[in-house]
Amino acid sequence: MAYRIAVLPGDGIGTEVVPQAIRVLDKIAEKYGHQFEYKQGLIGGAAIDATGHPLPEETLGLCYNSDAVLLGAIGGPKWDNLPTHLRPEVGALLPLRKELGLYANIRPCRMYSALADASTLKKEVLEGTDMVVIRELTGGMYFGPKGRETVDGVERAWDTMLYSTPEIERIVRLAFEAARKRTRKEVCSVDKANVLEASRLWRETAIRVAADYPDVTLTHMYVDNAAMQLVRNPRQFDVVVTENTFGDILTDQASMLSASLGMLPSASIGGNVALYEPAHGSAPDIAGQKKANPLATILSAAMMLEYSFNLVTEARAIEDAVEKVLSKGFRTGDIMEAGKILVNTEEMTDRVLEEL
Ligand code: ATP
Ligand code: MG
Repeated sequence: MAYRIAVLPGDGIGTEVVPQAIRVLDKIAEKYGHQFEYKQGLIGGAAIDATGHPLPEETLGLCYNSDAVLLGAIGGPKWDNLPTHLRPEVGALLPLRKELGLYANIRPCRMYSALADASTLKKEVLEGTDMVVIRELTGGMYFGPKGRETVDGVERAWDTMLYSTPEIERIVRLAFEAARKRTRKEVCSVDKANVLEASRLWRETAIRVAADYPDVTLTHMYVDNAAMQLVRNPRQFDVVVTENTFGDILTDQASMLSASLGMLPSASIGGNVALYEPAHGSAPDIAGQKKANPLATILSAAMMLEYSFNLVTEARAIEDAVEKVLSKGFRTGDIMEAGKILVNTEEMTDRVLEEL
């Protein structure tokens, strides 16, 4: 059986790193006897230039008819001044997630010990960090009732953190399932249940769902404390699950626990077809210079193998290969330090292929 993968390179370094992930997938196919079938689609600025729209019908159709989507990055200065609905992020990424029903964003955050010195935080604090943040993606303040009005000459506005039990239950379940596959089997549910009603429902639901997972340990943490603990002692976390807005903030914060955005993969899942993309953007400042770190996208492809195709051995093989390449001292510019070997986008992938 062939796995059908929709490939959407997008803009900027997206067009440079996606082909590298494909090279790695091809190597996996060859080594483990799988068949991957790729179909390319246009998205973002590239799609605007070609068709006038950032998410053409044809691309959406291609995604629906695939088993998984691999996305590079979209947007760039060229398209920043378009009307809001045509901007790559608003016109392509949000509708794509919505159309595919992707309610969970998964962001692993792992400190590779070889990179501990390349981070801005202290090695003693970071070493051994290996966590995954699971963010609810289709509820909360982003999508709850919102409005604006002027009363007695005073303008006011509101956004509502609205969550239903089924919405909370499905994301919390996903976190428990993810924890179950990990060594520590711990879920930390982050909320603000001392103040917010939606958080109280969140916490009650998490406790109820936990009964189905006796092998997993559930703890709770207020979001303000979680923000502090993430930089104080990130090693304490295994799986973190939280609502949309809190997750938006905490995932960006957690990204700094890794040495570079160029190292961080992500997956958006929940529907029939999941979306895999690096956590970074199109990086216009280094686009076209063969400098981009391809590892975030290569690791996103590994997540695709694990989450969409259940090819866990193959996914681990990619992660191990990345770790070995880093241990041997190969670095792209974003993670370069004195005494290491500087390589470009393609050479970094060559090294990964060698390890595989
Ligand atoms: P977006 O709005 O699309 O998120 P951004 O400007 O917020 O874009 P990025 O495009 O991710 O963020 O770039 C942020 C910085 O990180 C830039 O200086 C960029 O060069 C660097 N960067 C991002 N990804 C990589 C990568 N894969 N390799 C090397 N450097 C990277
Ligand atoms: Mg950004």
